[in-house]
Parts: sequence; C-alpha cells; structure tokens
Amino acid sequence: MFGKHYILVIPLALICLLLFAAVPLGGTNLLEILVCLSAFGVTGGLLWYLFMERKSIFVQVESLKNDYKGQRDKASQCSKETKDLRLSVQLLKRQKRNTEAIIYSIPDVVIVTDASDRLLMANEPAGEFLGFDVKDTMLKPLDELAEKKELVKLIRNSRTTRVRHVKHELQFGSGDNIRIYNCIVSCIFDDDDHVCGVVTILHDISREKEISQMKNEFVGHVSHELKTPLASITAYAEMLVDGEAADEKTRKEFYSIIQSQAQRLNRLIEDILNISRIESGLIKVHKEPVSTALIVRDAVQMIKSYAAEKDIKVEDQTAVVFDQVSADKDMISQVVINLLSNAVKYTPNGGKVAVNSEVDESQQVVRVTITDTGVGISADELTRVFDKFYRVKANNKCAKGTGLGLNLVKQIVEKVHQGRVFVTSEVGKGSSFGFELPLITAEKTIIK
Ligand code: ADP
Repeated sequence: MFGKHYILVIPLALICLLLFAAVPLGGTNLLEILVCLSAFGVTGGLLWYLFMERKSIFVQVESLKNDYKGQRDKASQCSKETKDLRLSVQLLKRQKRNTEAIIYSIPDVVIVTDASDRLLMANEPAGEFLGFDVKDTMLKPLDELAEKKELVKLIRNSRTTRVRHVKHELQFGSGDNIRIYNCIVSCIFDDDDHVCGVVTILHDISREKEISQMKNEFVGHVSHELKTPLASITAYAEMLVDGEAADEKTRKEFYSIIQSQAQRLNRLIEDILNISRIESGLIKVHKEPVSTALIVRDAVQMIKSYAAEKDIKVEDQTAVVFDQVSADKDMISQVVINLLSNAVKYTPNGGKVAVNSEVDESQQVVRVTITDTGVGISADELTRVFDKFYRVKANNKCAKGTGLGLNLVKQIVEKVHQGRVFVTSEVGKGSSFGFELPLITAEKTIIK
C-alpha cells in the first residue's frame, strides 16, 4: 500500500513542481496562475496525505514491536514455568524416594491405601505381617491380599467415617503366639477435603506389655516377700516390749526369731538388688581367667560345716585345672554356693552331695554339676524353678527360702557370662543342677 502511494504521488508532485516553476519563467495569464495554484494545492494535499500515512505506519510498526515484545515475554514466561515445573517434578520424585526410604527402613508395619482401599505402598514387615509379597501387589485391593480381616475392616471404617487419626490396640494370633499391636490409622485428605488415602502403622507392643506385666508381678512378689519377715519381726518385738516373754529362755527364742527374720530380709533385699543390677546392666563385672575347680573347692569347704549339721557327705570329684574360663570370681563363687546350699537344704539328713567340674573340649565349655540325693522336683515344676520367687510347694517344708537363688544363678551364668544352666531331677531320688561356661581358647589365653 505504501509503495502504491509513492507511484501516484511522486509523478504528480514532479508535474506540480514543473508547473509551479513555469510561473516565474514567463507565464503570466490568469489561467496559468490558477493551474499553478491548484497544482500547488494538490501537491500540498498529497504531501500531507503522505505524511499522515507514514505516521500511521509508524504507529503500526510500534504496535507490531509491542506485540513482538509481548510474545517474547510470554515465551520467556513459558520457559520459566517449564523450568519450575521440571524442578517441581524433580522435587516430588526426590520426596517420593525419601518417603519410600523412610517407610522401608521402619521396623513397624506400614501400609498406605488409596480411596478405594487398594494398596499404594507397603514395607517388608507389612508383607510378612499380612502374608503377601510386597513387590507385585501394588494397586491390588487390600481385602484380597490381607488375611487379617479385622485390620482391613478398621482401615475401611476409618476411611468412610473420615476420622483424621485413630489409635487401636489389636491382638493377633492365639496361644503362645499372641502378639499385641498399637495400630494408628490416619486418613489423608485432598484439597477438596475428600479422603484420598489411608496410612496405617502397626507397632508391636507385645514385649512392652510382657515387661510391664512382669514388673507388676515382681513388685507384687517383692512386697509380699518383704512383708512376711517384717510382720514377724514386728510381732516378736512388740511381744518383747509388752513383756510377754516372761522368762529368759522365751526372750532368747524371740531374739533369735527376730535375728533370723532380719537375716532373711537382708538376703531377700540382697538378692533382689543383685538381680535388678544384673538385669539393668548396672552391675560391675570383673572378668579374669579363673579356674572353676578352685572356686568349687573353696565353696565345698564353706558348705561342709552346714552339711555336717545334717550329716550330709559332700564329695568333690574335681581335678584342679587352672585358668579355664574368663569369669567374675565372686559371682561364680555365689553361683556354686547357691547350688551347693540348695543341694544340702533339699536333701534329707544322711544324704549325699557330689560335685564335679569337667572340661568338655568338644563343646569348648567347662561344666560344673552338683548332684544330690534329695527330695527332687516334678517334671512340670522343673521348667519353672529358675523363675523369680518360684518355690516348689512340696519342698517348702524342707527349708526356708526366697525363691530368688536359682534366678540369680541363671542371670549370672547366662546374662553375665554367656553360659548355660541345666537341671535334671526325679521326685524322691534327687536332683542334678549345673552350669556351663565358655572355655578360654588357647589363642585367647596367649593374647591375655
Ligand atoms: P529358695 O530360696 O526357695 O531355695 P531357689 O531359687 O534357690 O529358692 O530355688 C527355687 C526352688 O527350687 C526351691 O524353693 C526348691 O523348691 C527348688 N529347689 C532348688 N534346688 C533344689 C534341689 N537341689 N532339690 C530340690 N529342690 C530344689
């Protein structure tokens, strides 16, 4: 359009200029003057038109420039948004990997389901617990996968009732295999406040429950055991204060009861403290290479006078061998004394106690066995004699006791020295109590 105007305007302007130039060259009549004036007017008009046209072209160029700038801004905005999106995707992927790493490293059972109760994510413990292979189960309905219908029902209920967090205590299994779990079910909500998934976590609290029950039983037993000697000390002391012991002989009898009950109390407290120190790991253990044969010999010497009171013969069949085990001498002495004094306590007058300490090269252990010809223990009670406060009812009349001695033996041998205790017994014939401690190997002895 621009070029077309130039084709018209430029020749017309040249003609007008020629005519205009003709006036001063000689043309003088009115017609010529009029033609010149009109040509001059037309040329001016055309020049004005041209000027206006160019102005509008400038405006168009300017708007085109602006358009271009707008497009360029839009393009850079788009590329920035694409970059941001790529970054967001990368961030989301990283977050997903982090979440997966957390879930897979948790020892608790973790199950993530969607709004239709299909499996989105589950860790190994979840697979083991629910009985499926985690790898090829994604997006499968949970009730098709899980054997534990109670749990599936709980997840579905939480989703439909839209409860944010719910905590339950669930019990699975039966008999000796009962496991108790703390189950936390949390609903996940989307931006429109719809439930888009459910996270379920199961934490096994069976051991905690067991420990808390054991603690309660222990406290119950301790208070009961402490009460008995304390009650008798209080009663006899009151009788003495009230002058109820008329003669010296009765007073002496009361004093001796108070003394023996105080000693029992002392033993009980000592045993309880020792057991709890070992259980909590607070006890100081001084291990050194020792000979169990020497420990046995010393313990037999100590117990002989007590055995003689009951006319019980104690036979030590041990050959002395040095530095067999790495052990705390005082603790192992206590173990041997406890077993020996039990053997004497639960063996009727005139009986026999035999002690043997041997090195078992094939098992790499030292084995100490104390055999008596005592009252014996029935098979069903044999498994319980190492429990805290357990006393065999049928044997109670033979001797007084706390029911803690054998538990202490077990703790010292098994927990402190990584050994093993054992017992065999027959009612009316006698018992064999003993323990094994790991032998120091030749290599270890040289290093020492
Ligand atoms: P206690 O202080 O009652 O002797 P222990 O823990 O040493 O406690 O022993 C637990 C129970 O095991 C005893 O009450 C006793 O009935 C039984 N017992 C332990 N040693 C023998 C043994 N050599 N012969 C028969 N019964 C025994």
